Amino acid sequence: MPTKIAAGNWKMNGTRAALEEAHAIAQVQSGDAQVVICPPATLLTSMPEGLATGGQYCHPATSGAHTGDLSAEMLADAGASYCITGHSERRTDHKETDADVRAQTEAAWRAGLIAILCIGETLDQREAGETLAVLSEQLRGSLPDGATAETLIVAYEPVWAIGTGKVATPDQVAEVHDALRDQLGAEISLLYGGSVKAGNAAELFALDNVDGALVGGASLKAKDFIPIVEALA
Ligand code: PGA
Repeated sequence: MPTKIAAGNWKMNGTRAALEEAHAIAQVQSGDAQVVICPPATLLTSMPEGLATGGQYCHPATSGAHTGDLSAEMLADAGASYCITGHSERRTDHKETDADVRAQTEAAWRAGLIAILCIGETLDQREAGETLAVLSEQLRGSLPDGATAETLIVAYEPVWAIGTGKVATPDQVAEVHDALRDQLGAEISLLYGGSVKAGNAAELFALDNVDGALVGGASLKAKDFIPIVEALA
């Protein structure tokens, strides 16, 4: 059985005041679900003991002259055990390609981190009927060989559903997750991401091949995130 995972992606949100939310999230009764928070890197070393954490990106190199960047080894040293790779905001804002995402995923593995690899189609691609082909191509280009359930989580995040309040319908999510399950095998956790909140989490988690969620906006406050964790647990 794939591990159930509720992952929060805080993106570029949160100063030390947000640690209060992390402490509240760390208290949640999560049953057999794994809770992970990916805060801004500035907060990693201050996160509560016992709450699994992740980076939001890593540079492929271990160290060097890359001003402003962070290596997977630095994230691991700061306490992270996960790293998001290939988030659509990185692909857009920083022009990251599938090849970049592949190199970052390899770097995450090199440092002993579990990669949360994100893929997703744009609205134009969905309307053109290209969703499954686009996702399959993104995986082919960005997933290194040798992935296992211990090293990889895949997050399906339709670009048009991220931060927009427009959640994909259960039928749309099921179609994609069933195809991903066929492609990736029985054990790898498959998360849905894109406007997940307390009000829609339960119906998404009821789908056969949805093993949890990658949550942006609704992970910033414990009062919003905890009901999502409870819907999964
Ligand atoms: P959202 O973001 O939940 O705010 O839509 C999800 C994500 O980008 O991971």
